[in-house]
Amino acid sequence: MKKVIITAITALVLFSCQNDQSEGTNSDAAAKPTLRTCASQDVLEAQLKADPTLAIRMNEIEAYTNKALLTGKLVNGKIQIPVVVNVLYRTTAENISNTQIQSQIDVLNKDFNALNSDYNNVPALFAGVKANVGISFVLDQVIRKSTTKTSWGTNDAMKKTAQGGLAPTSPTTKLNLWSCTIGGGILGYAQFPGGSSSTDGVVIDPKYFGLSGSANAPYNLGRTGTHEVGHWLNLRHIWGDATCGSDLVSDTPTHNTANYGSPAYPHYSTCSGTPVEMTMNYMDYTDDAAMYMFSTGQKNRIAAIFASGGPRNSFAQP
Ligand SMILES: [Zn+2]
Repeated sequence: MKKVIITAITALVLFSCQNDQSEGTNSDAAAKPTLRTCASQDVLEAQLKADPTLAIRMNEIEAYTNKALLTGKLVNGKIQIPVVVNVLYRTTAENISNTQIQSQIDVLNKDFNALNSDYNNVPALFAGVKANVGISFVLDQVIRKSTTKTSWGTNDAMKKTAQGGLAPTSPTTKLNLWSCTIGGGILGYAQFPGGSSSTDGVVIDPKYFGLSGSANAPYNLGRTGTHEVGHWLNLRHIWGDATCGSDLVSDTPTHNTANYGSPAYPHYSTCSGTPVEMTMNYMDYTDDAAMYMFSTGQKNRIAAIFASGGPRNSFAQP
């Protein structure tokens, strides 16, 4: 319910006074995560502190997004995004195979085109808002680099040649993915639209990159990639990174907080109106097998960034 279309003024408040919210990262840095952890919001907050102009750019994107939603000037044509995969490895296991890399591309193409086999599992309550986002991905190239680092953290070192990483290739026209061990129980993180092109893209731990094998269950079905690319396409966590927060999308229910594992349906929110939570949305924190839909509001939010004047319009050009 709730969730009105926010105004530019609300957006200004939104990005100018973000408080420090933890995403509940696991305390044991070396441990296999038992709960999904994504560092995108933490990285955004660090970037906002380091660069005050980022808040201004993101406010402008938010105002633009709302204007695009209100006027309906959205891209209708198919958008195909070339993907560059940067593999940073120390161990053989970290040097993931081309097959595993292609499996991630395949999962993205299924999930963003409503071709995932579990799409029909969406409950009747949400059948009217489940969406085919209609963006496809094609593997452009794989770049591999041997390193001595055991973990890379979340300060973008993997994207910087001077820090032993790999700089992004053509980041204004190609989506760059980095596969590298992040550490801290973090599965992945993305940069939202508005950030520097020199750090633009998505980082995914090799254990959760594509179809990574049953040993890495319950995060072995490539949905970390789907979730992080969702952030890269301007989607927020469905609980809005706050108690009963807003994800800036009008057709998703208000969630108390993140959901983990595979929640029994229906799971009711205790937020205003006590709606049934959309725990199967890719932007929640559930297991890979428990997330299988985007909403129409999310689709429209994504479409706005590719429209003329949008922050990823360069990706929509022939
Ligand atoms: Zn996330």
